[in-house]
Amino acid sequence: MTNADIKYTNQRIEILNFLKDNYNHPTVDEVYDGVKNKLSRITKATVYRNLKFLSEKGMIQEVNVKGVSRFEPNIKPHHHIMCNRCKKILDFESKELSEYALKIVKNLKGFSVNNSNTNFYGVCNNCA
Ligand SMILES: [Zn+2]
Ligand SMILES: [Zn+2]
Repeated sequence: MTNADIKYTNQRIEILNFLKDNYNHPTVDEVYDGVKNKLSRITKATVYRNLKFLSEKGMIQEVNVKGVSRFEPNIKPHHHIMCNRCKKILDFESKELSEYALKIVKNLKGFSVNNSNTNFYGVCNNCA
Protein backbone atom coordinates (compact mmCIF):
# COMPACT_ATOMS: atom_id res chain seq x y z
CA MET A 1 0.00 0.00 0.00
CA THR A 2 1.19 3.50 -0.77
CA ASN A 3 0.93 6.34 1.73
CA ALA A 4 -2.07 7.63 -0.17
CA ASP A 5 -3.80 4.26 0.13
CA ILE A 6 -3.20 4.25 3.88
CA LYS A 7 -4.57 7.77 4.18
CA TYR A 8 -7.77 6.81 2.34
CA THR A 9 -8.08 3.64 4.40
CA ASN A 10 -7.88 5.64 7.63
CA GLN A 11 -10.49 8.06 6.39
CA ARG A 12 -12.83 5.24 5.46
CA ILE A 13 -12.38 3.55 8.83
CA GLU A 14 -13.24 6.79 10.66
CA ILE A 15 -16.28 7.34 8.45
CA LEU A 16 -17.45 3.77 8.99
CA ASN A 17 -16.95 4.19 12.75
CA PHE A 18 -19.03 7.33 12.71
CA LEU A 19 -21.83 5.64 10.77
CA LYS A 20 -21.79 2.44 12.79
CA ASP A 21 -24.86 2.42 15.05
CA ASN A 22 -25.83 5.85 13.68
CA TYR A 23 -29.39 5.45 12.48
CA ASN A 24 -30.08 9.18 12.08
CA HIS A 25 -29.37 9.05 8.34
CA PRO A 26 -26.73 11.82 8.43
CA THR A 27 -26.09 14.04 5.40
CA VAL A 28 -22.59 14.60 3.97
CA ASP A 29 -22.36 17.77 6.10
CA GLU A 30 -23.23 15.86 9.26
CA VAL A 31 -20.74 13.08 8.51
CA TYR A 32 -18.10 15.73 7.82
CA ASP A 33 -18.83 17.43 11.17
CA GLY A 34 -18.61 14.05 12.88
CA VAL A 35 -15.19 13.05 11.51
CA LYS A 36 -13.33 16.32 10.89
CA ASN A 37 -11.78 16.40 14.37
CA LYS A 38 -10.27 12.97 13.90
CA LEU A 39 -9.14 13.49 10.31
CA SER A 40 -7.15 16.68 10.21
CA ARG A 41 -7.44 18.72 7.04
CA ILE A 42 -10.04 16.45 5.48
CA THR A 43 -12.37 18.33 3.15
CA LYS A 44 -16.08 17.88 2.67
CA ALA A 45 -15.46 16.79 -0.93
CA THR A 46 -13.17 14.01 0.30
CA VAL A 47 -15.73 12.87 2.85
CA TYR A 48 -18.28 12.76 0.04
CA ARG A 49 -15.96 10.74 -2.22
CA ASN A 50 -15.34 8.25 0.60
CA LEU A 51 -19.07 7.95 1.32
CA LYS A 52 -19.70 7.25 -2.37
CA PHE A 53 -16.93 4.67 -2.43
CA LEU A 54 -18.26 2.89 0.68
CA SER A 55 -21.81 2.86 -0.74
CA GLU A 56 -20.58 1.41 -4.02
CA LYS A 57 -18.80 -1.32 -2.08
CA GLY A 58 -22.04 -2.08 -0.26
CA MET A 59 -20.64 -1.26 3.19
CA ILE A 60 -23.11 1.54 3.81
CA GLN A 61 -26.23 2.65 2.02
CA GLU A 62 -26.99 5.97 0.39
CA VAL A 63 -30.58 7.11 0.53
CA ASN A 64 -32.15 10.10 -1.06
CA VAL A 65 -34.79 11.93 0.92
CA LYS A 66 -36.32 15.00 -0.69
CA GLY A 67 -33.32 15.39 -2.97
CA VAL A 68 -30.74 15.19 -0.16
CA SER A 69 -28.22 12.33 0.00
CA ARG A 70 -28.01 10.63 3.37
CA PHE A 71 -25.94 7.70 4.52
CA GLU A 72 -26.66 4.85 6.88
CA PRO A 73 -25.22 1.58 8.15
CA ASN A 74 -28.41 -0.38 7.45
CA ILE A 75 -27.64 -1.96 4.07
CA LYS A 76 -30.79 -4.07 3.93
CA PRO A 77 -33.44 -2.82 1.51
CA HIS A 78 -35.91 -0.78 3.52
CA HIS A 79 -38.29 2.15 3.47
CA HIS A 80 -38.32 5.37 5.46
CA ILE A 81 -40.82 7.25 7.56
CA MET A 82 -40.03 10.92 8.07
CA CYS A 83 -41.48 13.28 10.67
CA ASN A 84 -42.51 16.55 9.07
CA ARG A 85 -41.86 18.47 12.30
CA CYS A 86 -38.58 17.23 13.84
CA LYS A 87 -37.33 15.77 10.51
CA LYS A 88 -36.49 12.48 12.21
CA ILE A 89 -36.15 9.59 9.73
CA LEU A 90 -37.00 6.09 10.86
CA ASP A 91 -36.31 2.83 9.05
CA PHE A 92 -39.29 0.81 8.04
CA GLU A 93 -38.69 -2.69 6.78
CA SER A 94 -41.40 -4.30 4.72
CA LYS A 95 -40.50 -7.09 2.36
CA GLU A 96 -44.10 -7.16 1.15
CA LEU A 97 -43.99 -3.52 0.13
CA SER A 98 -40.66 -3.90 -1.71
CA GLU A 99 -41.85 -7.02 -3.50
CA TYR A 100 -45.17 -5.44 -4.42
CA ALA A 101 -43.52 -2.29 -5.77
CA LEU A 102 -41.11 -4.34 -7.88
CA LYS A 103 -43.98 -6.48 -9.12
CA ILE A 104 -45.89 -3.43 -10.30
CA VAL A 105 -42.97 -1.97 -12.26
CA LYS A 106 -41.79 -5.31 -13.61
CA ASN A 107 -43.42 -4.75 -16.97
CA LEU A 108 -42.09 -1.24 -17.41
CA LYS A 109 -40.80 -0.92 -20.95
CA GLY A 110 -37.15 -0.17 -21.61
CA PHE A 111 -36.13 -0.42 -17.99
CA SER A 112 -34.92 -3.11 -15.68
CA VAL A 113 -35.80 -2.21 -12.08
CA ASN A 114 -33.98 -4.04 -9.30
CA ASN A 115 -34.50 -1.92 -6.23
CA SER A 116 -37.11 0.33 -4.70
CA ASN A 117 -37.58 2.34 -1.56
CA THR A 118 -40.52 4.39 -0.51
CA ASN A 119 -40.57 7.42 1.76
CA PHE A 120 -43.53 8.03 4.03
CA TYR A 121 -44.20 11.37 5.68
CA GLY A 122 -46.12 12.13 8.82
CA VAL A 123 -45.73 13.20 12.44
CA CYS A 124 -43.93 11.11 15.05
CA ASN A 125 -45.29 10.36 18.53
CA ASN A 126 -43.00 12.94 20.16
CA CYS A 127 -44.29 15.70 17.91
CA ALA A 128 -47.94 14.68 17.74
ZN1 LIG B 1 -41.15 14.35 15.18
ZN1 LIG C 1 -32.69 3.87 6.56
